[in-house]
Amino acid sequence: MKKTIQSEELFQSSLHLMLGGVNSPARAFKAVGGSPLFISGGKGSSIVDADGNQYIDYVCSWGPLILGHAFPEVVRAIQEQASKGTSFGAPTALEKHMAQLIVDAVPSIEMVRMVNSGTEATMSAIRLARAYTKRNKIVKFEGSYHGHSDAFLIKAGSAALTLGVPSSPGVPSSIADMTITANYNDIEQVQKIFSEHGKDIAAVIIEPIAGNMGVIPPLPGFLKQLEDLTDQYQSLLIFDEVITGFRVAYGGAQELYGINPDLTCLGKIIGGGMPVGAYGGKREIMEQMAPVGPVFQAGTLSGNPIAMIAGITTLEALKAPGIYNNLDSLAAKLEKGLKEQANEAGIKICINREGSMMCPFFTSGQVRDFSSATTSSTDQYNLFFWEMLKQGIYFPPSQFETFFISLAHTEKDIEQTLKASKITFQALLSK
Ligand SMILES: *Cc1c(COP(=O)(O)O)cnc(C)c1O
Repeated sequence: MKKTIQSEELFQSSLHLMLGGVNSPARAFKAVGGSPLFISGGKGSSIVDADGNQYIDYVCSWGPLILGHAFPEVVRAIQEQASKGTSFGAPTALEKHMAQLIVDAVPSIEMVRMVNSGTEATMSAIRLARAYTKRNKIVKFEGSYHGHSDAFLIKAGSAALTLGVPSSPGVPSSIADMTITANYNDIEQVQKIFSEHGKDIAAVIIEPIAGNMGVIPPLPGFLKQLEDLTDQYQSLLIFDEVITGFRVAYGGAQELYGINPDLTCLGKIIGGGMPVGAYGGKREIMEQMAPVGPVFQAGTLSGNPIAMIAGITTLEALKAPGIYNNLDSLAAKLEKGLKEQANEAGIKICINREGSMMCPFFTSGQVRDFSSATTSSTDQYNLFFWEMLKQGIYFPPSQFETFFISLAHTEKDIEQTLKASKITFQALLSK
């Protein structure tokens, strides 16, 4: 076992200052049990904790760090910009540059608005969709995460077509009632929802590859059917590409699958590790937003120069040829190795992967929606997590998250990870 005395001390002394010792719940290691590591730095594919232990990192700040930690050009760009000023509250050329990069990259986006987080992006996109369609209801999918604004903190009841029940206290039922939750990959259910509520539905919002209940790719045709259905009822289709944007392809999942959503939400990678979000889409819809249109949304730090330059530098780096193939083949190697080792050990596993997003589920069946995701043995995942951490591999501290492979990961990292997992699967057998 590694010594984690400093982390433990920091954690214990944070507990009465910060809720659960953290500023975002997923960091608290509650799902896997135990104390979180406090991180003192990162370089490339690894992070170092407060006790000086080094880990190969597959969390990558939960998605943004596709170039790895402290990518030299990003660091340099941030330093240079910081010396010129950190915020002006007036437009800069950097914002135009970023907008141009996004519009050029993401097929369906004609105009874009920068915000400070993915949460702000989805929250604003929904406001826009409601204003544009003059309808109030939205459809989301169970197990999807679209940030923490009220409209999205809803999970379905057990009955398939149940209207929303808040999954957090503090969300008024009047707001929850406006959110209808469907099963991921279940087009028939969405059709049924539309046949009952179609004229009231402003938008369907979806992670085109689900990444917040583990990884669940869309079934063939599912996204296209959603596009057709929303067209038919004149509802909007909103792609939440906060994870998938610039991750599964330069133009995101919509490029990969050839779908033309009305609005797209971005975040994570486009900030290059700084706090950022964006939403964009068809010009006619976007022009409803202030100052051109009547729908209000603003931000003191929106389009922040440091965030812009970090994002711009990241996106420019991602234009190099072969990037997405490299990510895919590294991730494929990890997937294949884990599968083979689990099979050898007789451990039931289902690994879902799309490019550099992947997740192992400890279950014998296929995982294609929230309920099948919950058939995974989280006890086994938690043991897996801790055994790997012991050996210097930092996987997400929860079953229902995505493993991210970055361009900083090397063949050697993957080999080292597989060496550790071989030992881990044997350890799992004896538990
Ligand atoms: C992370 C995430 C968000 C929220 O982004 P924040 O920047 O954390 O507010 C929204 N949607 C998806 C799909 C995400 O993964």
